[in-house]
Amino acid sequence: MRTVENYDIKKASFYRTGGVVSCIYFPQTEKELSEIFTTLNSQGRPYFILGSGSNLIISESYFEGSVISLKLMDGISILSDNIIQASAGCLSTTLSLFCKKQSLSGCEWMYLLPGSIGGAAYMNAGCYGGSMDKVVEAVNYFDALGNLKRSLDPFIGYRTSIFSSIGSCVISSVEFSLTLSNLSKIDSKMREVQISRISKNQFKYPSCGCMFKNDYLSDGLEPTVEKKPASFLLDKASMKGKRQGGAFVSQYHANFVFNNKGTSLDILNLAFLMQDTVYDIFGVWLEFEARLAGNFDSSITERFSLKKEFNLERYLKACSDL
Ligand SMILES: Cc1cc2nc3c(=O)[nH]c(=O)nc-3n(C[C@H](O)[C@H](O)[C@H](O)COP(=O)(O)OP(=O)(O)OC[C@H]3O[C@@H](n4cnc5c(N)ncnc54)[C@H](O)[C@@H]3O)c2cc1C
Repeated sequence: MRTVENYDIKKASFYRTGGVVSCIYFPQTEKELSEIFTTLNSQGRPYFILGSGSNLIISESYFEGSVISLKLMDGISILSDNIIQASAGCLSTTLSLFCKKQSLSGCEWMYLLPGSIGGAAYMNAGCYGGSMDKVVEAVNYFDALGNLKRSLDPFIGYRTSIFSSIGSCVISSVEFSLTLSNLSKIDSKMREVQISRISKNQFKYPSCGCMFKNDYLSDGLEPTVEKKPASFLLDKASMKGKRQGGAFVSQYHANFVFNNKGTSLDILNLAFLMQDTVYDIFGVWLEFEARLAGNFDSSITERFSLKKEFNLERYLKACSDL
């Protein structure tokens, strides 16, 4: 297995931020993955799992721990006429292109979705009308003792799966149930997705996609009252263009924090400002979709996981003033 000591994680993070990690492992087979995962768990030392790092904000401080990168486990196999298995490190875009070649429909939405299939399963990723919970047949993963397990129903809700709540587990592969379709139909859906992502300038600077989830708490809100998307609230709170160091809010999408040679702390300080401003105006506490990894100061991890109650009165007042 390829192992690198004192690895600069910036190279592997979508945001191009983060510091040096003590050791990174690149398993190539399920056996290697299970062995290294079991060893790290039995040692009780800190570690984190890296897909493509497209949803991670990684600390700049030295991380006295290990990282398992799934990058080299990227195979795809055809299990039956309509069941495809992708290893966890396979990129979402690679899988959607593979499915197109087989005239199999179901993965068009994940074309140009940054990240790996393992990361997409962990996050229950979704966009353009598709999501992992709609197409996944099963997820195979290792528990902390190295037992290979199979979950047929791992998705809990919006951007949530059992993997984020179980804690110590690593996804090794994902099986997809797809339908035979017409090649030009598949192609035109993928083109639509491509045009949309490019026209929204999503790849102009490094980002992690949406910083905040759309399904914030809204206790007491009548189903008849519209629940506004996070990007709408951020836009109305004049967040577009706001800046902290090298981090700034995209002019095209108020929920995207771009990075231009800034640090993870720049990104987080800006995100905290966005969260506080939306709460002050709308009484909505936006929940992070991005995840933290590495060695952050406890003041940052505590601030990151802070929660505040929905303020119905403030929300209704602010919406009526719009
Ligand atoms: C420009 C841009 C646009 C985006 N648009 C969308 C969008 O439309 N919809 C959407 O849902 N997301 C979107 N994202 C977010 C991101 O692409 C997805 O969350 C993606 O699926 C994450 O995959 P990853 O491999 O990069 O995961 P990482 O960022 O590496 O990891 C995310 C989390 O999953 C864990 N993890 C990763 N792999 C494994 C594994 N094999 N086993 C166990 N845990 C694992 C990590 O430890 C981490 O906690 C966007 C991101 C960017 C940069």
